[in-house]
Amino acid sequence: MRVGAESGVRRLIILGSTGSIGVQTLEVVTHLNSLHARGEFPFRFEVVGLAAGRNADATLAQAMTHGVREVALADGKSCERVSAPPGVKVRSGADAAERLVREVECDMVVGAIVGAAGLSATLAAVERGTDVALANKETLVAAGSIVIETARKSGARLLPVDSEHSGVWQALAGATEKAHVAEALGTGHRALDASQGVARRPQASRLERQAALVPPCEVGADVSRVILTASGGALRNKTKEQVENATPEDALAHPTWNMGAKVTIDTASLTNKALEVIEAHWLFGLEADRIGVVVHPQSIIHAVVEFADGSSIAQMGVPTMCTPIQVAIAYPHRVSGKLGAVSLASASRLDFIEPDLGRFPALELGFRVAREGGTSGAVFNAANEAAVEAFLARKIPFGKIARLSRAAMDEIGVSEVRSLDDVYAADREARRFVGKALGIGH
Ligand code: NDP
Repeated sequence: MRVGAESGVRRLIILGSTGSIGVQTLEVVTHLNSLHARGEFPFRFEVVGLAAGRNADATLAQAMTHGVREVALADGKSCERVSAPPGVKVRSGADAAERLVREVECDMVVGAIVGAAGLSATLAAVERGTDVALANKETLVAAGSIVIETARKSGARLLPVDSEHSGVWQALAGATEKAHVAEALGTGHRALDASQGVARRPQASRLERQAALVPPCEVGADVSRVILTASGGALRNKTKEQVENATPEDALAHPTWNMGAKVTIDTASLTNKALEVIEAHWLFGLEADRIGVVVHPQSIIHAVVEFADGSSIAQMGVPTMCTPIQVAIAYPHRVSGKLGAVSLASASRLDFIEPDLGRFPALELGFRVAREGGTSGAVFNAANEAAVEAFLARKIPFGKIARLSRAAMDEIGVSEVRSLDDVYAADREARRFVGKALGIGH
């Protein structure tokens, strides 16, 4: 069912409910439900399904707190250790999240599993035509062409949760939606024209106009470029040598965002920004040369949309994921958030710095994938996942993460994506490549 068609209740499935995004989504749900109880928000959220990896205790505790009866856990062994509370059905196994999405009716799926593990369940939602509030960028990186084509066929929308893409979406909508709607409804200058006897344009449906600006969409030639900001991560001020030899503790010490381990490491290497370049490419139909990246340590401005006429619109917000989560799951409603707006006076200064590809070469790989297409995203993503795992297990130095990703892409090359099988085959090959490379040292 499409968001907006339901009345009174919006049913949510949260994939990755025990993670950083999942937990914050539940907080936003609680916040919006309290607004609903006070008559300040039009509908109530009902969480109808939760999926996680192996944290059975936390998932079942969430189910009890939020009255959820349908649960999925990828790790079968974790399920054996716990007994499900009465009335709660627990699915287990690698495809448990996908089965949850296929079997439980809902209005929106929040995609917040980390890594390519989120692909099958997210794609299942998209196939069903269910709107997805998407945090799991790896799904688009690995299988963007399939996910976008499926969304176009099913009508599912991909409401960005990633703060930068939420920023792009909001800046685009703020800039163009109202203007288009006013134009379509014959208000403003058109209405004046009409009063002077000039024929009005035919009215376009407001929903049609809105839909054109919700991903997946193609931004027009009126947008010359989209800029994603990067915090720069925990190693932003380190020398090349310090970056090369950073420990997991160094790389996990993110100054502004509190996130899961994998995305925090990706942020420190700028791989996260590379993944986001690919995500922007797919969500907004942007070619690589219309996407830019700038380091902005304060993480106040999340994205800037540059228009052909020389005007730029920046989206700002305090660095909390609760805001983009709320924008996505409450869409199209704007009601008070858990935190207020940015105080410009106390922000006092905003810095912008060119990314340093010498110290953070992974960023370039995102642009390369956006240009090469095919299986290059699946290879990049899987090689990076395997390399991050090895780094967190202290098997490789930090600097080797990006080198392994690049080497996997060089060695494996690019093939056409005809089906999901091609994506999974490329994913497996990249993981094998990294495993083999680790066996022979660096
Ligand atoms: P976390 O590591 O905090 O959480 C990951 C979640 O995925 C957990 O619920 C975990 O379950 C679950 N999970 C892991 N493997 C599987 C699996 N095989 N099947 C089902 N569930 C699984 O990650 P984050 O919340 O930080 O990130 C989630 C996604 O959102 C990532 O793609 C990230 O890039 C993106 N994102 C995150 C941001 C953030 O601020 N954290 C910001 C923007 C995007 P369990 O706990 O049981 O292991």
